[in-house]
Amino acid sequence: MRASDRAICLRTIDYSETSQVVFFLTRCHGAVRLLAKGTKRPKSKSGGAIDLLSEGELVFSTGKEAGDALGTLMEFCETVVHSPLRREACRLHAALYALELAGEMLPLGDPHPEVFDLLHNTLARLGQSDAPVAAVLAYFQWRFLRRVGLLGDMRSCASCGRQIDRADELHFSSRQGGLLCGDCEGAQVEKYRVDADTLASLRTIQEAEAGTKVSLAAPQALALNRLLAYHVAEQLGKVLKMARHVCSLQRSG
Ligand SMILES: [Zn+2]
Repeated sequence: MRASDRAICLRTIDYSETSQVVFFLTRCHGAVRLLAKGTKRPKSKSGGAIDLLSEGELVFSTGKEAGDALGTLMEFCETVVHSPLRREACRLHAALYALELAGEMLPLGDPHPEVFDLLHNTLARLGQSDAPVAAVLAYFQWRFLRRVGLLGDMRSCASCGRQIDRADELHFSSRQGGLLCGDCEGAQVEKYRVDADTLASLRTIQEAEAGTKVSLAAPQALALNRLLAYHVAEQLGKVLKMARHVCSLQRSG
């Protein structure tokens, strides 16, 4: 099957002297894994090796079964330049965390156009000099996990359904994908303590998602990034390489 689509490079592996295996997130075909022959030659059509964060128009072919095996990259033309991200370490770290999260959590060949758009918008925003980096990343993690169905209703207890309005003895369970009230947390071994800052950050991000113009203050963005990075690590059974940068991102405005 030959296809063309918009794509963002999530990961690359050297395959030979001149070739790479490149993982892309495409808009309409989901994540794809492609052999890119000759891309490391300086005079290749793609203008040299394909890098993380490259975004553009991709032409590729895959086997009959979408999602399996290694496809072939036929053409890649970079159309969006995310180079401003590379000027500051905290922006680059946030962007690389977003790529790593998408690359690890999305199965091959499972299209989520809204997740592609979310990643595109996040990278573009992180490249702007006035971007509150920690808040942009917190919003990305929140939306991403909601979109892939890993975050439930964070307004009530995932176990008994009681409305949550205070942080007393409040916990988050990755396995339950939600909050546990003081009466229910005792029965769950896997859990993360949710303090007042984290609860406030959840309420703010829910308002933002509902369309209210609110901003996530730096301590709240940090608290939310930590909670969501914990959730991601529990779901994957490993901590993402970029997670330690995300959990110390202080800058939010
Ligand atoms: Zn409960």
